[in-house]
Amino acid sequence: KNKAVATPTRTKEILETYGFAFKKSLGQNFLIDVNILKNIIEHAGIDREAGAIEIGPGIGALTEQLAIHADRVVAFEIDQRLLPILEDTLADYDNVAVINKDILQADVNEVIAAQFKEGQPIKVVANLPYYITTPILMKLLMGRLPVESITVMIQKEVAERMAASPNTKSYGSLSIAVQYYTEAEVSMNVPKTVFMPQPNVDSSVLHLKMREEPPVQVENEEFFFDLVQATFGQRRKTLMNNLARHFKESMDKQEIRKRLEAAEIDPGRRGESLSMEEFAVLAHYFYEK
Ligand code: SAM
Repeated sequence: KNKAVATPTRTKEILETYGFAFKKSLGQNFLIDVNILKNIIEHAGIDREAGAIEIGPGIGALTEQLAIHADRVVAFEIDQRLLPILEDTLADYDNVAVINKDILQADVNEVIAAQFKEGQPIKVVANLPYYITTPILMKLLMGRLPVESITVMIQKEVAERMAASPNTKSYGSLSIAVQYYTEAEVSMNVPKTVFMPQPNVDSSVLHLKMREEPPVQVENEEFFFDLVQATFGQRRKTLMNNLARHFKESMDKQEIRKRLEAAEIDPGRRGESLSMEEFAVLAHYFYEK
């Protein structure tokens, strides 16, 4: 039996056999460390019952470990050149389907309905292509897919922003967007040396546990997220300044001051000090049907 795909020697061998050249533009950095993969699978809570969705299987390093530990694996890969390689590296597993599609174009709900058992616990697990980390995660979150969790290797700095708490350097509108849908946690930091080729940035594994309900109630989600973004607009500026800019067409400063008073939020504060609950209160007092 072959050694695992995720070793330096086997990976080099596969790349040579197929004359595969990495495409930087597709964020191709393959994992070459089985221990890291086992840790990811553990953090993801993958077990025999689980259905796994992978984004970007590459030559199958993570796919293989998912095939071993999960009930079924469905992987979306955009690069057609990888299909014959995956057929080869995953030949021993009959519980894997590879779909040759751009994840941003794919109808993931339809794939879930077609590929997994009714009621099967589904988890997304991936070493994401870093150039589209945020669009991919926002698509999965806003699509309200029937998945339990998302566990992904991403750029360390982005993972920190997504999981950040108020009054930290990393806290911003991305923290609110992600934490509105999930409970976010950085599971571990990962050195560059476990990738081939090595990326220029540091990486972390981010675990997102889907919430059944949003943590706050808002009248209008789009208005809420726009308002959050506006209050972080210029980080050094006060709430008052950022709101005045955001509502310059519809409200004067006096009106803004009045509403902040009603919301019991000090106009001199900065966006970075507001909790999700306070943003929801703010949105409530500024929203007009
Ligand atoms: N899972 C493999 C591993 O860990 O070794 C490869 C991870 S590599 C960081 C990212 C993978 O995502 C590549 O195989 C790349 O071709 C694929 N990819 C890039 N953009 C994609 C997209 N829009 N949809 C699906 N896959 C994509």
